[in-house]
Amino acid sequence: MAVRGFLRGIGGKNAMPQGASADGSERPLKPIAMGDGATRLQLLDEFEAGGIGWFWATDDQNRLIYLSPAAAANFQVSHEELIGRPLTSLFTLENGEDEEAAERPLPFLISARTKFANMTVKVDAGGDPRWWTISGKPYQDANGVFLGYRGGAKDITADFERQRDNTRAAHFDSLTGLANRNRMTRRLTAILTAYKAAKRSCALLMLDLDRFKAVNDTLGHPAGDELLKQVAQRLERIVGPKGEIGRLGGDEFQVILPDIDDRGDLGELAHRIIQMISQPYSLDGSRAIIGTSVGIAVAPYDGIEPSDLVKSADLALYAAKGGGRGQYRFYSNDLKDSAQQRREIEEDLRDALSRGELRMYYQPVVCSQTHKVKGFEALMRWEHPERGPISPAVFIPIAEDSNLIIALGEWAMRQACEDAAKWPADMTVSVNVSAQQFSTDSLPALVTNALASSGLKPRRLELEITESVFMGDAATTDAMFAKLKKIGVRLALDDFGTGYSSLGYLRKAPFDKIKIDQSFVRGSTEDDNSNSAIIAAIVSLADALDMETTAEGVEAMDELALVKKRGATLIQGFIFSRAVPQEEVLEKLADGNFVYEPNGPEKQRSQRRTLFRRIGVIHEDHRYEAVLRNLSRTGAMIEGLLEVPVGTDLVLDLGEGQLAICRVRRSQDATQGVEFETPLISDGADGLCTRHRISPYALAAAGMPLAALPPGHYAMPDRRGARPTDNRRFMQVDVGMGASRAA
Ligand code: C2E
Ligand code: CA
Ligand code: CA
Repeated sequence: MAVRGFLRGIGGKNAMPQGASADGSERPLKPIAMGDGATRLQLLDEFEAGGIGWFWATDDQNRLIYLSPAAAANFQVSHEELIGRPLTSLFTLENGEDEEAAERPLPFLISARTKFANMTVKVDAGGDPRWWTISGKPYQDANGVFLGYRGGAKDITADFERQRDNTRAAHFDSLTGLANRNRMTRRLTAILTAYKAAKRSCALLMLDLDRFKAVNDTLGHPAGDELLKQVAQRLERIVGPKGEIGRLGGDEFQVILPDIDDRGDLGELAHRIIQMISQPYSLDGSRAIIGTSVGIAVAPYDGIEPSDLVKSADLALYAAKGGGRGQYRFYSNDLKDSAQQRREIEEDLRDALSRGELRMYYQPVVCSQTHKVKGFEALMRWEHPERGPISPAVFIPIAEDSNLIIALGEWAMRQACEDAAKWPADMTVSVNVSAQQFSTDSLPALVTNALASSGLKPRRLELEITESVFMGDAATTDAMFAKLKKIGVRLALDDFGTGYSSLGYLRKAPFDKIKIDQSFVRGSTEDDNSNSAIIAAIVSLADALDMETTAEGVEAMDELALVKKRGATLIQGFIFSRAVPQEEVLEKLADGNFVYEPNGPEKQRSQRRTLFRRIGVIHEDHRYEAVLRNLSRTGAMIEGLLEVPVGTDLVLDLGEGQLAICRVRRSQDATQGVEFETPLISDGADGLCTRHRISPYALAAAGMPLAALPPGHYAMPDRRGARPTDNRRFMQVDVGMGASRAA
């Protein structure tokens, strides 16, 4: 009977026709009459007790005069104690992400005596918090006098918590607790939209961990997860409240930095991030070392819309990775081309070996006291049929990314051993072994084979390894070191001090030599530069551990004197010789003269790059065209203006909103040497850029509509066609490639 009654109640498909009973007899319907107060009250009681909903009432001072008993049971205090309390004291408001709800809080609505519906409130009366939704309506007497509120409430804890968890999952990365891609995209969009109107700037950093995959592979996924968490913590510590950090997935992170456009500051921040991320991690007993590359783009210069800015930061990241790891890079327009170039190089590199385009060159390493050559470092050279020579600094990282490094490294090892076998008996050859090669099981076999087929003694082969091999599983690394040592080859730690420096493994690993990176040699002779002290420290450390030291990249006489004074045992650098082909090595060694004479400038000058780039030169209110011949942090050489007096102030327009104020220091015919008022800063790789840029908004104000600016193309307005103004002061000459002729 009960079931039948239920079915009848819901009027389901199988329900009996209304008024019909199972035995077919008619039963009269008994509606509850509106006047039947007692039955209606009973209905309400049942409703209240059933937990479907509750009632509450307040008096004209908003004190509670009624609350359904089942609702009151949520509170730790008795029903009697609740009565008389202000309604708003029972709840805290819970708006979650709903910013609009925060605008009109409950106490405000109540004091305004307005009706409210479905406000979510938190009942925090000790124990687990509960969430209710409450509605209320002011209640008046016949004369419109306010008597209090009458309202309902309902427990929605389960729904609320489910929704809150969903929201969290939709916005945050469960592993690290950082914002996820979805939230970062929304934040970036919101910030850029607001900033567009306010003409404010916003920087975007893209990070990608170097060699994270190796940690995951060797130590397992739980360790990889732990590593990501620690990376997130380090990032939070560095970035702090200045920005918002997100994990986009995998080992990709993003940082939004509102109101920052100083590329000097951004470069420093990126550098700090790289340093911090590169410190060793402790993962459940294992040690791991990874690195990171950082790409930086700044709105509005490098993109106004979120997707453009992200694309720019991505390209910058790609370039940072391409330039070797552990670097940062600012976006610039030429990166678009270089990304394409990189793909093409990778393509061609696949065939370079079989086409015989690769060669090994050898750079002498000389004794710092006698200048007698002790050995040579084998360096790979690629003569590209169309592009000409391509630097290994460019193609080796590409080879590492595409796994081609294994084949290239194998070839280099065999070739170097074969060539070295033809040198005098005590001369060593140093071969670079990339971290990837180091982690392949076949390396010891390759070394043994190369030695056997060339007949080179193991002691004459030195493997140059960088600090990056110390990441991942320490046991595997140690085993590899042991195998190589057993063969009898020498081991050198290359580029010491640049990346993953930690002194711990120096003591453990069986190195015969430390190579002091050229970045320490460069600038070591300048005043107030700490590099000289660092060189001294590395040398004494090596002495203590009974290792040799090679100072790399010595170019100038003052550098030579300094590294000698600091005690480096060996020297390698352009001051003695660049890397040369095997024929030249044999020629040099043939007459038995193993001594190299130093040959280089007296002093190391601020590094200048030779360039040929068209730029704008602004003087007073005239804009000229000139060619940038070389560029350093502190100055440049320009060509194209005739007889500009020394002392003239100019503005160089380097493109993309980069204006550099400078003064002419030297001047001859159409060539001027200028000094910048504010030194340029590094773009993270080999480039230089200005700290600040002229915003595209300023350009727009100068007559260039914003909408017409394609993303990232903020060249200065081209006024070539404009008529020269009266105060044009200098003759502009046309500069051809290589030569400077008057037009
Ligand atoms: P690296 O191992 O640090 O090699 C030293 C680099 O410094 C060489 O650049 C060398 O030409 C350059 N160098 C030497 N003396 C001076 C100097 O006085 N001034 C300056 N400015 N540079 C100097 P290179 O040949 O362009 O090689 C670049 C990098 O490419 C190497 O750095 C190494 O990491 C990688 N590489 C080159 N050949 C091989 C190879 O066969 N296998 C692997 N895995 N990597 C290689
Ligand atoms: Ca090397
Ligand atoms: Ca090196």
